[in-house]
Amino acid sequence: MRPFTYQRPDSLAEALALAARPSTTVLAGGTTLVDLMRQGIETPSDIVDIRRLAELAGSTVYSDRIEIGALTPMSRVAEHAAVRTDFPALAQSLQQAASQQLRNGHGRGQCPAADSLCLLSGREFSV
Ligand SMILES: Cc1cc2nc3c(=O)[nH]c(=O)nc-3n(C[C@H](O)[C@H](O)[C@H](O)COP(=O)(O)OP(=O)(O)OC[C@H]3O[C@@H](n4cnc5c(N)ncnc54)[C@H](O)[C@@H]3O)c2cc1C
Repeated sequence: MRPFTYQRPDSLAEALALAARPSTTVLAGGTTLVDLMRQGIETPSDIVDIRRLAELAGSTVYSDRIEIGALTPMSRVAEHAAVRTDFPALAQSLQQAASQQLRNGHGRGQCPAADSLCLLSGREFSV
């Protein structure tokens, strides 16, 4: 693994400023990113750990959309009443992804290969 700097900001504004630098990668739970770094596929110079940003965890329902925070665990999204009602295939895919431990502790998957993102790409959504 190549050397890198590690920073864990306390505010979203600071995180965004740090993440805007070239060759910087965001770390959420680390389950995908650390594997990719070990394999030399991802080689960031700087890592910004967003796990202190509580505002990124949780889901908010609006009249026309549901916003899912980047740090919301997969199991929390799958259990959300509005997701179960309006996006049953998303709830189902998240219930079947990975292991219970990963579903409880890690993000719904920013990884382009994640099952739920493939599913969402067939619907109107933004990241
Ligand atoms: C044993 C195992 C089994 C798995 N099985 C499945 C499965 O069946 N189905 C499935 O879909 N997935 C599966 N996964 C993948 C799992 O869903 C992902 O590892 C997990 O969701 C990634 O979340 P994380 O919080 O650990 O992200 P990280 O590893 O921290 O980040 C993943 C990527 O997203 C980027 N990122 C993170 N947060 C942000 C952000 N806020 N903004 C922009 N980019 C960001 C990171 O830079 C990185 O490139 C499995 C993983 C493991 C280890």
